[in-house]
Amino acid sequence: MLTALRTSNNEKVLARSSAKPDAPFMCPACRCEVVLHKGLIRIPHFAHKARVACRLGAGETEDHLLTKLSLFDALRKEANVQDVEFEKSSGHPSPMSSRSSPACLWR
Ligand SMILES: [Zn+2]
Repeated sequence: MLTALRTSNNEKVLARSSAKPDAPFMCPACRCEVVLHKGLIRIPHFAHKARVACRLGAGETEDHLLTKLSLFDALRKEANVQDVEFEKSSGHPSPMSSRSSPACLWR
C-alpha cells in the first residue's frame, strides 16, 4: 500500500513523503501497525508488520504500485480535478474495518 495513517496524529501519509522517524504508522483499513519500506530498488510503500488477514495492499505488484502512483500524479496535475485522495475507502466496511476492535491476526 502506498498510504498509511501516522499514528501520532491519524494523518494519512504517502510512503514516498514519509520517513522512518515518522513511525509508527498503521493500516487505514485494519489499524494494525505497518512498516515503511523505503529503499533504492522498490517504490516506497507500507506493509503490515505482522501477517494479518487484512486485504489492503495484499498482492500489489511493483507494476500495480507504479500505476497507482502514476495515475495519482497525473490526476493531481489536471486543473479540473480536485480532492484527489490516494487509496480512498469505498465507504463500505470491509470485514476487518467493521470490527469494533480490529485485531492483527496471524495466518
Ligand atoms: Zn490492514
